[in-house]
Amino acid sequence: MAKSFKYVILGGGVAAGYAAREFSKQGLNAGELAIISKEAVAPYERPALSKGFLFPESPARLPGFHVCVGSGGERLAPEWYQEQGIELILSTEIVKADLAAKSLSSANGETIEYQTLIIATCSEVIRLTDFGVEGADSKNIFYLREIDDAEKLYEAIKEKNNGKAVIVGGGYIGLELSAVLRLNNIDVTMVYPEPWCMPRLFTPDIATFYEEYYTNKGVKIIKQTAASLTANSNGEVKEVNLKDGRVLEADIVVVGVGARPRTKLFKGQVEQEKDGIKTDAFFKTSVDDVYAVGDVAIFPMKMYGEMRRVEHVDHSRKSAEQAAKAKENGETIEEYDYLPYFYSRAFDLSWQFYGDNVGETVLFGDKDPNSANAKFGAYWIKDGKVFGVFLEGGTSEENKAIAKAAKVQPPVENKDQLAQEGVSFATNL
Ligand code: FAD
Repeated sequence: MAKSFKYVILGGGVAAGYAAREFSKQGLNAGELAIISKEAVAPYERPALSKGFLFPESPARLPGFHVCVGSGGERLAPEWYQEQGIELILSTEIVKADLAAKSLSSANGETIEYQTLIIATCSEVIRLTDFGVEGADSKNIFYLREIDDAEKLYEAIKEKNNGKAVIVGGGYIGLELSAVLRLNNIDVTMVYPEPWCMPRLFTPDIATFYEEYYTNKGVKIIKQTAASLTANSNGEVKEVNLKDGRVLEADIVVVGVGARPRTKLFKGQVEQEKDGIKTDAFFKTSVDDVYAVGDVAIFPMKMYGEMRRVEHVDHSRKSAEQAAKAKENGETIEEYDYLPYFYSRAFDLSWQFYGDNVGETVLFGDKDPNSANAKFGAYWIKDGKVFGVFLEGGTSEENKAIAKAAKVQPPVENKDQLAQEGVSFATNL
């Protein structure tokens, strides 16, 4: 017999945990909510996988980083869901969704029915095999999305101690994993074809700081495309062949070349825009009683007057809370008014960014990677106003101040003066 719930959250990641907490605050009866996840564990703070989980000393392990600790809340261990009467349907992949019939089918033949569905399936990694890269199916090539991936990578790091790793990709995953593998005493080479790292956010000046800092830590950086991979007779990766003919030895290859939203199950059943599921400011989709939150949703970004999709943890938490509140209170609640917020941590570095990286940039601070107290940032200025602010090494007060600056968008009269004032321009607002 099919199981049936008032609410089903499909996807058991960050958004699922924060939505469950919000449903519980709104008043939930036992047996009303189920979370379905392909993973075997209760919702956890995914960003830990590329950071503390791989530390050589005292690595982070569950239950330590179950949601909602990432935003300073109480940790929701599996017992919490039990106490609330929330059913965790784990190790269960949904392979078919029929939105008209309000029913989901799992890979092992179960049917789960719902009155309201919250889609929180997030993104799947883009693989080198997707581009037809030769040798990309060799052993010891790792991607990082779920806890199983992180466990496999952790084991490989231990096994290949003092070995060589090639990290393909110069974005978040590439930068965070290069750092953590280096901390594990692995010889690390980063390979990416772009002229500088994190090109979607960093300016060349910002990137130069990180590239030099990483080089000082012993990470080699090669700006090239990984064209093919060669394996030994056991099928284990041994070399990464670059487009320019260079050959890099590798015991491990870690790939971080992006992700795409997991929307396939709903294709043709719900309105999409670009590659996301289209929602309103309450995360309602075009189908009655179906919401989409986190990475999969393309929603009205009120501040900038356009539809956007955001692949970051802060938005997944907040969109999940908004959907659960909207489900219970209808449109009496305020529209979602999101201020983009991204962060990353690696080695002893920690940066935050708020707002939109559009317009021209004004840099400030000490951006010498050799300096013991390097601390610097940038303002993005458009139409004479601050649109975005980046800060490396800020205190929590300063980070709050840059968030405020990106939100209130103060006018900038004199860019030289802004560069002089640096972060104090924001803290004095
Ligand atoms: P997720 O947390 O990814 O959860 C999706 C869940 O859905 C998974 O459990 C998956 O197994 C499940 N699922 C999908 N399809 C199905 C199906 N058909 N059946 C059953 N289950 C299914 N963001 C930042 O802002 N800062 C960071 O430092 C940062 N670090 C990151 C590090 C890593 C390694 C990764 C992978 C991401 C990182 N992110 C970071 C991004 C952030 O984690 C995501 O934006 C966030 O997790 C999205 O939340 P979500 O709930 O939409 O998806």
